Formats: sequence, structure tokens, C-alpha cells
Amino acid sequence: MYTKRSRITNILIIVILLVVAILLIVSGYFHYNVKKRMYEDSYLINQLGLIRGNIQRYAKFKIANIQNDKIFDEIENTINSVKFLINKEKKFSENFYEICNKQLKDVENDLLILQITNDKKGILSISEKLWQKTNNLVEIALKYHKYKFATIINVFDYLIYSTVVFLILILFFLYHKVKKGLEVETITDKLTGLYNRLYFNEIYNYLIEKYHRDKKPFSLLIIDIDNFKKINDTYGHQTGDEVLKKIGAILKHSIRKTDFAFRYGGEEFVIIYPETPLEEAYRVSERILFTIPIKVKVDLNPVTISGGIGEYKGENPKDFFEKVDDALYLAKKLGKNRIVKI
Ligand code: GH3
Ligand code: MG
Ligand code: MG
Repeated sequence: MYTKRSRITNILIIVILLVVAILLIVSGYFHYNVKKRMYEDSYLINQLGLIRGNIQRYAKFKIANIQNDKIFDEIENTINSVKFLINKEKKFSENFYEICNKQLKDVENDLLILQITNDKKGILSISEKLWQKTNNLVEIALKYHKYKFATIINVFDYLIYSTVVFLILILFFLYHKVKKGLEVETITDKLTGLYNRLYFNEIYNYLIEKYHRDKKPFSLLIIDIDNFKKINDTYGHQTGDEVLKKIGAILKHSIRKTDFAFRYGGEEFVIIYPETPLEEAYRVSERILFTIPIKVKVDLNPVTISGGIGEYKGENPKDFFEKVDDALYLAKKLGKNRIVKI
């Protein structure tokens, strides 16, 4: 149950991390582009301002009969650069492109008229018209810039908000995972992966309470490995540990999902069979008794266990445990490799 939940949490964390990574990449790319386009926009507005100002300079020089070809060339160059910039905007706003292009052509036409006009009044009148048209262009570009960035900043805000939300989700899942991990660690025996004695006390007391509340029976099996000291002494502690691990695995796989297997002490194990009468628990326990010597061997010698088993009938919890332990002691006395019922 825990491993399944843990795997789902892992998958969720990975998925959320991927989403955050994608959001960060998109935000980064977006940020880079926004900066670039902001610079392009201010450059465009600046160039339009330059056209507006230079046309007035050109008219002033023309009235004063001063050489002005350089200014005219400058205006033409700026118009060309503006055309290039506007063309780039075409893919974002066709409308903006069309309006600017039309106005710019209009300005170019008027500029040609201004170039061939020689009387003072004519120059003033056409330059005033050009002022209005070029000023209008500057204002259109400013408005477009404001509108465009209002939208872009909104999208950017959403990207940042979603990243924060997903990061909070990751923190939540990590917290959940670490908490669960710590909980599992405190109730698990490291060597065998079975529950430990601490958790046995918890479950045992819970089932006793439950028995007194709704008379649900449960059975208890206490196991002790036979001649374990000899295994340790002959083959070393490492081999002894391997035996403990193997027996732990057999216990875990022999019981139902609703039963509990504990490593109670060094080479002692306990199984609790909730809602199980003695005979039924005894059948499962005998299967364990026969399986272990077949599956666990040290240097071809089968490892055996002894056990005591009993069904709880409402007595003092400590007395009941001692009775089952006495049955285990009897099993040892009777020659080991057996399970004795109380
Ligand atoms: P019996 O059949 O009467 O139970 O004999 P036994 O040798 O199994 O009993 P005893 O209680 O004398 O020995 C238990 C041994 O288990 C003693 C101890 O060194 C060993 N032991 C306890 N915990 C561990 C452990 O974690 N790893 C290993 N390798 N040995 C352990
Ligand atoms: Mg012992
Ligand atoms: Mg022993």
C-alpha cells in the first residue's frame, strides 16, 4: 500500500517538475522576446520622431535657402528603416502594418511635393500637413506599443503565477513524501523490512481494544529460529543476517494483506492475524513452518523455527502474550521445529 502511494507521489513530483521546467523555459524565452520587442518598439517610435523633426528642419532650411540635401537623404533613410521595422510587425498586427504603411506612403508623397515646392507659403502649408501626419504616426506607434505590452505582460504574469502554484504543489508533495517516509522508517525493521517491535505494541494494543469493543477475535504467533546461535558461530554474523532476511521475506509473503508480520527481537518474529480464529491462523502458521526449511538452507542444512500460537479471549494482554511465549518455550522443549497451541 505504502509503495504504491509512494510511486504515485514520485510520478506526480516528476510530472510537476516537468511542468515547472517547461513553464520556466517558456517564461525565459518569453522574457527574452519581450525585451527584444520592447527595444524594437522604442527604436521604431524614436525613428518616427526623427522623421517628424527632420521634415520640419528640412522645411526651415528650404525657406532660408540653405543647402538641405543631406537632411532629405536622412529622412528617406529613416523612412526606409521604419518600413523595415513595420514589416516585421506585420505578423503580429496586420492592422497596425496597414495603417502605418498607408500613412507612410502619404508622407512620402507629401515629401516629394515639399521638395519641388519653392514658394514660402506653399512650403509652410505642406510642412504643417506633414507635421500632423508624422505626429499621428508617432501616436499610433505609441498606442500600439501600449496595447501590445498590456497583453504581453498579462500572459507573462500568468506564466509566473502558474510556476509559483506548481512549485507550491511540489513542496506539498515533497513534504507529504518525507513525512510518510519518516513514519514508515519509525515502524520498520531495517534488516528485514518487516514492522518493528514499536509498531507491534501499537497494533497489539489496538486489536485488544477492538476485541473489547466488538469482540473481533485475533490470533498471535511468536516465532524463534532454532539453533540460530550455532549458525552465527559456525558461518558468521553475515550469514546469520542473510537467514533473518530470507525468513522475513517468507513471513511477509505467506500472510494475507490484512495480517501483520513483525521482527520482535534479534531472531524472534511475531505474526498477528486480525479477525482470525486459532485454527485458521494455525493452518497458515504451519505452512510457514514447512516452507522455511525448504527455502532457507545454510550449507545445505535446513533452517527450522519453533512457535507458539494462541487466540485472544479477553484476558490481560501481558498474560496472553506470556502464554503464547510459554507455548513457544514448550515447542523448544519438545524438540523444536514445531508450533504449539495454547
Ligand atoms: P534456540 O533454538 O533455543 O532458539 O537456540 P538459539 O541459538 O536460536 O537461541 P539463542 O537465543 O541462544 O540465540 C539467539 C542468537 O541470535 C544470539 C544472537 O547472537 C543472535 N542474534 C540476535 N540478533 C541478531 C542479528 O541481528 N543478526 C545476527 N546475525 N544474529 C543475531
Ligand atoms: Mg531467541
Ligand atoms: Mg533461537
